[in-house]
Amino acid sequence: MPGNPNEIKLVNNAMSNATRRKIMNFLSTGDKSIEKIEGEVGKTMLDFHLKLLQQASLIEIGESTVKLSEYGKNFLKEKEDKSADKNADLSQAKPIEITEVRQLLPCIANPSKFRVIANMAPPLGGTLKVFEPLFPRGRYSDKIKALIMQKGEIITTIYGSGKVTMTMIKNEDEAREALDNLRSIINKAIAKGVAPAPREKVRVEYMELYKYLPQTNCRECGEQSCYTFAIKLMGGETSLDKCAPLKEPKYATNQEHLQVLSAYI
Ligand code: SF4
Repeated sequence: MPGNPNEIKLVNNAMSNATRRKIMNFLSTGDKSIEKIEGEVGKTMLDFHLKLLQQASLIEIGESTVKLSEYGKNFLKEKEDKSADKNADLSQAKPIEITEVRQLLPCIANPSKFRVIANMAPPLGGTLKVFEPLFPRGRYSDKIKALIMQKGEIITTIYGSGKVTMTMIKNEDEAREALDNLRSIINKAIAKGVAPAPREKVRVEYMELYKYLPQTNCRECGEQSCYTFAIKLMGGETSLDKCAPLKEPKYATNQEHLQVLSAYI
């Protein structure tokens, strides 16, 4: 049964796709034959979707039927309980704007980079905690009443008061783009009016990224080896689309795993 972070990632990956969620919901009404599942979700890549659900221990595939595993049943039940338990809704929250970028100071850790202080209005106050699941490497601190996020080497902190700080920024353009991205993610959640679903916290290691790369060291990505590529991917210095071989059909599962893992970097 999934319990450790790597297994949780497999489950998150399996449930990140709409077709696979549909299969899970369909199976929640009882065991089904492959033909019935095909009738419900279509034939396209059905084997692939079933394989990922099976790898995540969410389903069991028999000779003639497919059924939810015990873990799969518990997983769906927990998910239902959590959504019924939602204690924060965003129906009263107003869309936010970044009103000003007040200072661009040299970073203490690296003087060639900058530290930015901006302002978000209206302030999100205690509602800020609700947004934590939107950011893969986000953590709400009750102590300082702030949401702290990391993307590559940039660390962003949003305070309940509306103050926003960003460190390790290259220049003002990068700051504005990052702030605009932040605004758009938060406003999309506010437009939906409900709290985003809780998300498992997982830590990605570069060896894990390496595991899913083709490991041919072909250098098409411009790096010396797949190992170097994994390290740069981890540091936000390259992107998955630079690895052309990954687009080959035989690496479809690896590519999907890597896409999910990259979301946690
Ligand atoms: S292009 Fe992909 S397979 Fe080739 S070296 Fe880079 S990471 Fe490895």
